[in-house]
Amino acid sequence: MMYRSTRGRSSFITSSEAIIRGIAEDGGLYIPACIPKIDISFSELSDMSYKQAAAYILGKFLTDFSEDELKEYIGKAYDEKFTTAETVALTKADNAFFLELYHGPTLAFKDMALSLLPYLLKGAMKKNAITKELVILTATSGDTGKAALEGFAGVAGTKIVVFYPQEGVSEIQKRQMITQEGENTLVVGIRGNFDDAQNGVKAIFNDSAYRDRLEKKGYLLSSANSINIGRLIPQLVYYFFAYARLVRNSVIIDGEKINIAVPTGNFGNILAAFYAKEMGLPVNKLICASNENNILYDFIRTGVYDMHRSFKTTVSPSMDILISSNLERLLYYISGEDGSAVEALMNRLEAQGKYEISKTMKKGLKEFWGGYADDEDTLSRIREVYGKYKYIIDTHTAVAYSVYKQYAEATGDSTVTVIASTASPFKFTRSVCGSLDINSAGLDDFELLKQLSDSTGLEVPPTIKGLESKNIVHDRICGKEEMMDVVNEFLKV
Ligand SMILES: *Cc1c(COP(=O)(O)O)cnc(C)c1O
Repeated sequence: MMYRSTRGRSSFITSSEAIIRGIAEDGGLYIPACIPKIDISFSELSDMSYKQAAAYILGKFLTDFSEDELKEYIGKAYDEKFTTAETVALTKADNAFFLELYHGPTLAFKDMALSLLPYLLKGAMKKNAITKELVILTATSGDTGKAALEGFAGVAGTKIVVFYPQEGVSEIQKRQMITQEGENTLVVGIRGNFDDAQNGVKAIFNDSAYRDRLEKKGYLLSSANSINIGRLIPQLVYYFFAYARLVRNSVIIDGEKINIAVPTGNFGNILAAFYAKEMGLPVNKLICASNENNILYDFIRTGVYDMHRSFKTTVSPSMDILISSNLERLLYYISGEDGSAVEALMNRLEAQGKYEISKTMKKGLKEFWGGYADDEDTLSRIREVYGKYKYIIDTHTAVAYSVYKQYAEATGDSTVTVIASTASPFKFTRSVCGSLDINSAGLDDFELLKQLSDSTGLEVPPTIKGLESKNIVHDRICGKEEMMDVVNEFLKV
């Protein structure tokens, strides 16, 4: 399996090279030259453990890694850092199944891919005989940062720099990041939002003179954001796994279609569901849920992607994004794999902040259903689910639940639906306590952990216990135009 750029002007490379490079030289994103089909039955798949399913799916895409290599990485990635028996969990509430993807070390679904990425990258470096030190540049809306730090801290031959929007993450998210230990880590708050952080990182990547200069100093840049194909592919696994569990539990019969609802920001997680569908997972609708930054909702409805709107700070901060990078990969497929069409749209977005796709491309959006939830609705959904089912969901998952309910009501469709549950409610305690009318007056976010636990009987996840007493290691704040300087300073170049 070879990889090519969505903009069609870079040469074909192997999966390990694509993982190292992160972003293609023509500015596009790497995609597999074709999407492989699954060639086992769901009953076979349902006999597999999560790790076995991961080895099977990854083996279809990452063909320059041996089966043994992939199994080794998977074994190390999904070990006891994950606190559920099967790495993920599936919980029924209402007529939907919440696919809990947050039982990893940083309590968000980003762990599913970022626990594995360091092993893939290290293996890829070895395979390609690269001896340079790898510098991972990451922009985060709150969850990727900590998950990437967790994966790369202390990993020999790598350095990792994380930029987060100083005012745009939850208190728990921020504290998780700025207390990160490890000589090879740097965490920097920027005066700006996530889009500014992501643009800054992309600008550094696209500056070929700068990259050359770093290479001469022995550094190679790569990315832990979901623009890296090594992030995307591990995310396909859990959709297959969830489907196989539903078959095994006789909720659905083999071949029956399901809907998948995903709280969406950078369009990575839902794109993984799209790939799963293309591989042969029986999917009816992909339900794309946005918060008030509802640019994707408008896009799915009208085919117009329009950045001329204000950026909103919401109770689901990890989805506060206006530039959904992975949408570029979808554009590639719905344009009939036309790299120059994708490039033209991306250029228009950069120049005019807006583009409209063609009529034919719009047809490709039919398998998606878009919706959004504002903060008030989101918080009331947390209350609703807890009131009816004694089940607690976080703010991001609540956005997806809201949009799923809107979808079911608008269409009357009663297809079994899997909702990607992307974060632990303990990461967003203030909002969750607020929505459940748990008294939070005068309590800080850490005291609220206990309050939420005492009020609901849920245990505080061990990885964030004692977070408030950890040393703050990173206190650097910079302007969005200073990001390159900060990297230089860290690398001493
Ligand atoms: C990153 C994130 C999302 C959005 O996922 P994308 O792949 O960026 O669309 C949703 N919920 C949580 C909790 C996240 O951390």
